[in-house]
Amino acid sequence: MGKIIAIVNQKGGVGKTTSCINLAASMTLLEQKTLLIDLDPQANATTGSLFQKEPGANIAQVLLDEIPIQESLLVTPAGYSLIPGTTDLTQTEVQLLQKEQREYTLKKKLAVLSNLYDYILLDCPPSLNILTVNALVAANSVIIPVQCEYFALEGLSNLINTLQSLRATVNPHLQIHGILRTLFDGRNSLAKQVSEQLLMHFKDKIYSTLIPRNIRLAEAPSHGQPALLYDPHSNGSQAYLSLAKEILHRDGCPIPSIHAPSDIPSTTFLKKRSPSDIPSTTFLKKRSQHDKSPSIEQVL
Ligand code: ATP
Ligand code: MG
Repeated sequence: MGKIIAIVNQKGGVGKTTSCINLAASMTLLEQKTLLIDLDPQANATTGSLFQKEPGANIAQVLLDEIPIQESLLVTPAGYSLIPGTTDLTQTEVQLLQKEQREYTLKKKLAVLSNLYDYILLDCPPSLNILTVNALVAANSVIIPVQCEYFALEGLSNLINTLQSLRATVNPHLQIHGILRTLFDGRNSLAKQVSEQLLMHFKDKIYSTLIPRNIRLAEAPSHGQPALLYDPHSNGSQAYLSLAKEILHRDGCPIPSIHAPSDIPSTTFLKKRSPSDIPSTTFLKKRSQHDKSPSIEQVL
């Protein structure tokens, strides 16, 4: 079974989408079959993954039973698969509210895909709406990006309470994979203090990888690329690569060696895969259970 991870924080602009895109590219480089699903009506994960967004199938159509999920899959130039988001998701939210068992919609749709991928990353909108709840019901775990600033801790405890109530109701297996410090500026003493507080409160739930504030990470989406393609040697892309390795390590997965930094990716290295490379569901059924994820030792 692939691991389904929701990247979630109801606070806006903390680096959820940046983390999704760059983690998807890094996981791909580390030979993990990765799918990114854009559940945000802003569709930033979609525009940040594709050089050119062609009108086509999207997650809204899947959630509303208009198309089978397999028909919505794209392969991005960085090599990971993507189910695009769309501004229509705002309406989808309203339509979903009228459905029975609405919070299980995504989970049911993903059932046919989860064995195709090692990792499925869900980019959530900055609110705890029905789309986010769908992500949290479908996910095995969450990554919480946190910007090290004054209100971070307050927002985080609200989110953790929400996760606990979801565990008590709709998804008892939901775990916190890790809390990720993003947009970190080491010259800022407040950022350092908040980072220390986070480590004190959440201990080894905090990834040791820190994502620095890095201009390349901010520029890359305007080129429709993960930073790993836009500027593979930037501090930002290297930080996300370290994070991907840390995640594999936490999951007990072997980490394939990437050679000298000069080998780190070029568009040819992350070779473009055609949609036909996505294994069929028949292949899926034959796949062994070797990649069962061990449970995270400590859950909050
Ligand atoms: P939203 O809640 O609106 O979905 P988000 O949590 O997904 O936002 P992003 O869109 O990833 O956040 O990031 C917000 C802004 O900060 C974007 O302009 C992005 O390019 C920029 N950004 C994110 N991470 C970094 C970073 N480490 N260094 C520099 N800029 C960053
Ligand atoms: Mg976003």
